[in-house]
This record gives sequence, structure tokens and C-alpha cells, in this order.
Amino acid sequence: MKIHEYQAKRLFKDFGIPVPEGSVAYTKEEALEIADKIGYPCVIKAQVHAGGRGKAGGVKLAKDRDEALRFAEEIIGMHIKNIQTGAQGKKVRKVLVEKGVNIVNELYLALIMDREKAMPVIIASLEGGMEIEKVAKRHPEHIFKEYIHPVTGLSNFHNIRLSFKLGLNKTQRGIFSKLVSNLYKLFNEKDASIVEINPLIITNTEELIALDAKVNFDDNALVKHSDIMELRDIYEEDPFEVEASKYDLNYIKLDGNIGCMVNGAGLAMATMDILKYYKGEPANFLDVGGGTSEERIKEAFKILIADKNVKVVFINIFGGIVRTDIVASGVVNAARSLNVNIPVVILLRGTNEEQARKIIDESGLNFISEVDFKKAALKSVELSRGD
Ligand code: ADP
Ligand code: MG
Repeated sequence: MKIHEYQAKRLFKDFGIPVPEGSVAYTKEEALEIADKIGYPCVIKAQVHAGGRGKAGGVKLAKDRDEALRFAEEIIGMHIKNIQTGAQGKKVRKVLVEKGVNIVNELYLALIMDREKAMPVIIASLEGGMEIEKVAKRHPEHIFKEYIHPVTGLSNFHNIRLSFKLGLNKTQRGIFSKLVSNLYKLFNEKDASIVEINPLIITNTEELIALDAKVNFDDNALVKHSDIMELRDIYEEDPFEVEASKYDLNYIKLDGNIGCMVNGAGLAMATMDILKYYKGEPANFLDVGGGTSEERIKEAFKILIADKNVKVVFINIFGGIVRTDIVASGVVNAARSLNVNIPVVILLRGTNEEQARKIIDESGLNFISEVDFKKAALKSVELSRGD
């Protein structure tokens, strides 16, 4: 789960990580009120679940009241569109108004889970404010890492070693060390998957301040953190994904036009692979789960056909635990109640497949029932092209 910068900064504050004074505003009047309170210059920052806001015009430094009002007006309601927001972009519904800070040096600092090494890693660089992926590509030697064994945890030597590599002076080293320890504490206690500060700045008074804050959480651990769960902002999530999560459906929206309903993540991947192989484009990843019910099938079907890009639905269910006749009834009932006017290719194999096919054939619905994976995929691709 993702949260906004202003929420991440509140968490930082709770964990003793210095952030600029600031507060969130939903209207330009609110923004101005906050700006007046913290003084000028101040920064108006678009709050969306994506980075790269600065380059997209979503972060502006206001030197006085007039500018603060103008920038708040411009930014609230604007659309941020970049590689992180996807093709549709994200509408800005609120801004963070914070104190303009004097930057002497911008660093990069992050803590993420390294899945290959199965332990957290601290990543630091002198090239703060830049996209870290670009730094990693052009100058991998400018990136420093410290792996933290989960059993022994973080030690001061990790922090000190990093601070020397970053060329920090003695005062800065002390502050940095404390900051990293607090960041690690947050990362662990809140079950984060990423904590990123880009940039972490050094001021002219030798303070270290988190100017940006990104925190993502491990969804599987959210049950332990009701305080974090409250920070969820469904306006930032894909509406189809929000709907799917209500029914525990594992759904990810993609850009293609073949709606896929599959059971099991492995089969869902294989389905997407075969569609791609035949030059088709899946509109989504959807795993309805191993032991799915008729109701979930119905909800899944609803979500698929609500996506206006979808030109054809490909249902590919292997009945291992789930009975395919139940799937067939679910799909038929859903199609009847939903007035489906796009073609549906259906491939049901496994437990009770004969009964399932009978239900489909006798439904009177115009479904294309297949028994072969390759043929079903080819048919779906063909129909998605409209030929
Ligand atoms: P993003 O990464 O989404 O572009 P940031 O929060 O990193 O957004 O802001 C972009 C840039 O704006 C920063 O690299 C920094 O140079 C500047 N900036 C952000 N917040 C402040 C602030 N409070 N004071 C001064 N400059 C800021
Ligand atoms: Mg940033």
C-alpha cells in the first residue's frame, strides 16, 4: 500500500526523522492559511501517489503570499502525468504546504527489502534529487549499499561506514547515524517495503532534513497496523482494483483489451504469456483464486466488462479445487444479469468439465466454448482485433 508524502512525513516525525514544518491543504484558502502561519518562502507540493512531481510542475517554491495563492490554485486540480502515474495521469486533490528550506547538498537515502538476498538493504547516494534508477544505470559506483541481517539488525558500523562513503563531516555523521537508525526502526515496526528519502538534504546550519518522503507497506502485514490502514486513499488507486479488493480478487489493471478471468496466479501468468505470444494485449491480470465461489465469479465478471477497453473476455479456469460447473453457472448468471454485449471465450477444464460445458451450451448465451488452450487464446486475440 502506498501513502502520501504528507502522511509519510507525519510518520517520519513520530520516529524522530526531521522534516520541514508543513501541513496538508485541500483548497487554496487552506493553503494560504498554512503558508501565512509557517512564513515565506514556502513550497506548494502536489500530493499524489507518484514521484517525479517536481518535473511535472507539481512542486513550486513561493516567495510571497501572492505566489503561494497562485501556485496553490494552479496545482490543486492539475493532472500529473509521468512514467509513475501511468497513461491516465493523476488528479491532484490536495497539496502539502511546507517551509522552504535552504539546500546546500542533496543526498539519496532509502531502505528496501532485497528479495534476492532476503534482507533489508540501505541504499545511499550523493546524487539526491535525481531518479535513482538513472544514477544506478549511469554511475553504479555512486550508489552505496549496506545489507542488514534481520537477526543481528542494524549496527552503528553500517551507518558510520555509509556516512564516510558519503563524505560527511563529524557532526553530520552523528546526525546521519541517528537518522538511519530511526528510519530502520520505522521500516521494521511498520512493516514497510520501501522507505525512501529523495532528497535528504543538508542545510547551511548542518541539519539533515527529509525533503521528500515515500513509504510503501507490505500489504500482507497491514492486518497488524490499523493506524496505517487508515491512511489508505482509494482516490489514488485504480477504481477497478479497489472494487476487486472488496471481493479479495487478485486484480491488476493493464493497458490491453482482452479481459482475462483466470484461477491461480501461475495459470493467469501463462494466459497472459500466450496472449502476448499471439500478439494480443491483456487488459488485466485477474486471479479469482483457487476455491472460488459463484459470487466472486460474478463480481470478477462485472469488473472485467466495466472496463471500456475490453473488447473480448477470455475465461480460463482449471478446476482443481474449484468445480468448473460452479464457475459456469456463475458466469452464465452474471452474463444474464449484466447484459454483456462483447464476445466471451470460455475454456473450462478439470473437475466437472462436461457439466460445465453443458451449462454453457444450454444457456442460450453467445459464448465461444473451447477445449484447447492454444485455440482459445488465438480466438480471443482474433476477436480483440475485431476481425
Ligand atoms: P518529486 O520527487 O516528486 O519531484 P520532491 O519532494 O523530491 O518531489 O521535490 C522536488 C524538488 O523540489 C526537490 O528535489 C527539492 O529540490 C525541491 N523541494 C521540495 N521540497 C522543498 C522544500 N520544502 N524546500 C525547498 N525545496 C524543496
Ligand atoms: Mg523526490
